[in-house]
Amino acid sequence: METTSRGKLATADSVRVTNPDGNGAYVFTCDHASNFLPAEYGTLGLAASELTRHIAWDPGALPVAQILSERLGAPLVETCISRLVLDCNRPLDAPDLISPVSETTAIPGNEGLSAADRQARIDRCWKPFHETIDRLIETRAARGLETRLVSVHSFTPVYKGVDRPWHIGIIHDDDARLSAPLIAALQQQGGFTVGANQPYSPADRVYFTLERHARSRGLLCAMIEIRNDEIRDKAGQKKWGERLAGIFTGLEPARLPKPPPFRPLHSIEGTI
Ligand SMILES: [Zn+2]
Repeated sequence: METTSRGKLATADSVRVTNPDGNGAYVFTCDHASNFLPAEYGTLGLAASELTRHIAWDPGALPVAQILSERLGAPLVETCISRLVLDCNRPLDAPDLISPVSETTAIPGNEGLSAADRQARIDRCWKPFHETIDRLIETRAARGLETRLVSVHSFTPVYKGVDRPWHIGIIHDDDARLSAPLIAALQQQGGFTVGANQPYSPADRVYFTLERHARSRGLLCAMIEIRNDEIRDKAGQKKWGERLAGIFTGLEPARLPKPPPFRPLHSIEGTI
């Protein structure tokens, strides 16, 4: 595993960057990597058993992202605080940025927050995560490196009582330059069910990190959702990490069209 750096790009305890100087074409994010709650939030009024469920994080997603980072020489940006405190993969005006209910579970510690409490969470979680990704992409662009941004998530096998049949889903909007060959390569392997825009789609407002950092700049991007029972142990994490690393390696570089020119973030700040 590559050395993990907190110093060069990450300046807050809520975000961590692994392999920041990786020269590969890919950059991975893990937006829901951790179920950690800083002491000042207590348990947000939840029973301890709730804090290990998918409502707190994406179980198994980070180890898969770490394998991808290592195999592809790719930087990885991860959150270090539970999405119960704040969901970094949401725009600031999203009603579920700091959600009072997750799936069917009420989160008492998120009810009735003052404007100051809300802003403190944004300053602690959302800003460092997105500023770190911004700086990373800009630094890479200055070095002449292409960036293909991929976020790695996991989803619960049963949501609100409904079974989800897909083993993996690839989420994309109308720019399918990266996701289309990714879906095709997964389907070609066979033996598992691939969802295109399942179990979510960008219409569910789950595509924010990629919209903000990749789509706004014309960068290739895709969102990976792996069903979390597939990656609950090291063997499953390795299976999916190695499988995806092999596919991403195979996608480079000829099968993908050249992305449009880089546009600096300041030109698109108004879209946030
Ligand atoms: Zn997620």
